[in-house]
Amino acid sequence: MTQACGPAAGSVSVQAWLGDCGLPRADALALLRDLAGLSHASVLAHPEGLLAGDTLQALRRAAERVRAGEPLAYVLGWREFWGLRLRVGPQVLVPRPETELLVEFALGRLGARQEADVLDLGTGSGAIAIALAHERAHARVQAVDASADALALARDNARRLLPPTRAGGALRWHLGDWMGALPNPDERFDLILSNPPYVAEHDEHLQALRFEPLLALVGARACDDGLGDIRELVRQAAPRLRAGAWLALEHGHDQAAAVRALLEGAGLLDAHSLRDLAGIERVSAARAPGHAGPSPHARA
Ligand code: GLN
Repeated sequence: MTQACGPAAGSVSVQAWLGDCGLPRADALALLRDLAGLSHASVLAHPEGLLAGDTLQALRRAAERVRAGEPLAYVLGWREFWGLRLRVGPQVLVPRPETELLVEFALGRLGARQEADVLDLGTGSGAIAIALAHERAHARVQAVDASADALALARDNARRLLPPTRAGGALRWHLGDWMGALPNPDERFDLILSNPPYVAEHDEHLQALRFEPLLALVGARACDDGLGDIRELVRQAAPRLRAGAWLALEHGHDQAAAVRALLEGAGLLDAHSLRDLAGIERVSAARAPGHAGPSPHARA
């Protein structure tokens, strides 16, 4: 006879699993929500509820991955960015909350303007491009990435998250190296944004980031100060801005002054940096000389 009380063999209570899984509570609750279908409210209301069978197995495997240092977003398969649920996987960087600063900046520059040509360089999961297309239905958004696998995921995210009838049309995706990926070498933009690779080749943080793609962190131009790709990107992108148009880049915590100098060195004006929620200068931006006029494609 089995005991009259206590969990059945092979099962554990939600409370016991939370206590034993070895994860921060928020991570454990996320796994219970996604893998066992248990909301936070139901965990609080029924801590004695039992976990068993395939669900318990899946929870144990997932907890093991998170304990080994894999980002929770890869284990869950998604991460929220700008209120959008993006699919993510090891082919793309996990979108970070501080990157929302770039989206905020971009929306501020576009103001009430609906039509604009916007470019996202190094789009990864498509986070920045999709957030902008979501906020500005008429914007013509293009995005570049050096990884075909990343672009496939970004396309899939756009298909799921944006209405097929978007006024600005479908996003356009280009595979290749920065501006070289674009089919038309004369095309100019009203806004160019990028969260490029900027981690130095020997940065000790790379160990903690080991599950994420090196191409997205260190880039194709690995170097000691982490600025190899940013240097190239600024050089290539600055001449492709329309008059008065802005280029804005995310960068590392100690790179703001160097990035402002690169932007100014490329002939751009009003270089300045924005602080993230932790007070770190995280995004730097500058604009092309002249005044922004109506986009040549704008219709009356
Ligand atoms: N923000 C990331 C990190 O240091 C790096 C992202 C990037 O290189 N673009 O954790």
